[in-house]
Amino acid sequence: MGKIEDLQVINGEGYQLSTLDKVIAAARKNSVWPLPFATSCCGIEYMATMGSNYDLARFGMERMSFSPRQADLLIVAGTISKKLAPILKQVYEQMAEPKWVLSVGACASSGGIFDTYSVLQGIDRVIPVDVYVPGCPPRPEQIIDGIMKIHEMVKNEPLRRRYSDEYKSLMNKYNIEGNEE
Ligand code: SF4
Repeated sequence: MGKIEDLQVINGEGYQLSTLDKVIAAARKNSVWPLPFATSCCGIEYMATMGSNYDLARFGMERMSFSPRQADLLIVAGTISKKLAPILKQVYEQMAEPKWVLSVGACASSGGIFDTYSVLQGIDRVIPVDVYVPGCPPRPEQIIDGIMKIHEMVKNEPLRRRYSDEYKSLMNKYNIEGNEE
């Protein structure tokens, strides 16, 4: 279920109270299923982040998903060519809501050093990004810091956010079909 502090409970004699929003958000935050979309060197740093030294399992994240349908955090690590951009978008669209995106490293975030005709100058040209991790490559500590920021967002996200006008207009901006009531 998650850590007790995530539930922000009110303690009484023989009972604890929280809200449904907070219980669901705590469960989501502590069981994020990442989909690593790793294309180059930053992907190797992500592999190090998964290893025993840094150990993402501490955060309930040891279960990698290579199917978008069973993932809620898209981790894009590496250079994305313009040819690959539609595939990245398709993977994002196939993920069920609610979903989050972590852009790892300079290439994914801005094209990095590859200011060329063939490289996408940032994945936020095709999909919305929640957190950007700077670096070329970022250290595993930086990737973990980015993941912690995603956890904060997950923990504090209201249940109805994905049905809000603001979220719908974000999806419209990217020409992605959003949630319908
Ligand atoms: S940001 Fe640097 S380390 Fe990461 S994929 Fe690009 S060139 Fe490689």
